[in-house]
Amino acid sequence: MARDKKLIIGNWKMNLNMHEASLYVHSLEKMIKVRRDVEVVLAPTIFTLQSLSLQVNRRQFKLAAQNFYWRDSGAYTGEVSATQLRGIVDYGLVGHSERRHIFHEHDKDVRAKVQAALRNHIRPVLCIGETASERANNETEAVLHDQLIGGLANITSEEIEQVVIAYEPVWAIGTGQNALPVDVTRAVKVIRSQIRHLYGKQAADSVQVLYGGSVKAESAADYLAIDDVDGLLIGGASLDAHAFSEIIAKAHRA
Ligand code: PEP
Repeated sequence: MARDKKLIIGNWKMNLNMHEASLYVHSLEKMIKVRRDVEVVLAPTIFTLQSLSLQVNRRQFKLAAQNFYWRDSGAYTGEVSATQLRGIVDYGLVGHSERRHIFHEHDKDVRAKVQAALRNHIRPVLCIGETASERANNETEAVLHDQLIGGLANITSEEIEQVVIAYEPVWAIGTGQNALPVDVTRAVKVIRSQIRHLYGKQAADSVQVLYGGSVKAESAADYLAIDDVDGLLIGGASLDAHAFSEIIAKAHRA
């Protein structure tokens, strides 16, 4: 997808049952218009994905998986593969800080999932970002560098254009603590310069980079105004259809 479209992803995390999810989509449908300059993506729980895929108008919303296993099939009790999600979702979150920190996913898992998504025609949204202590120790740049190298190993220069990178400082996720736009600008520059180093200028100029971390309707415009930021990954605020529709409206105006 070209960078002239803002990408707004709502990550519902482990919230909303089937009924609530369906009601939510009904109300959001009425609140937003299809805009050529904004792509809206919902990331519900895996459990509600199938039924929502039948309900949503794909021109209005795309769907994303919050997680999936990297093997295509086999004896992996409790897991769902990217192969099974193919055709249902267009995007898949990979390396979200909650997966890294609560479920102890490491770069080798992240990398395998990025590859599994690509081989199944799902665009991986690779989430990277520093913790509070890494930030206090001035390690942000090194963390972004390591997580990019770790997550993208073996990805070709054709494939990189399918990957979305989300800069999500861990200390800003679900905490109400926003990163300053100036810090986001700096982090996104580091990300693009690392992509340039790995894949060249064309890839660095065309890869989509998002910001995520406690974005609310009131703060969305500040991040969307940053030249190098192509959209937002929204957690808490995406659970309120009204707040989420306001963020989408701001993306249109950006
Ligand atoms: C997220 O889950 O990726 C996220 C950014 O959450 P929140 O907006 O609640 O900080």
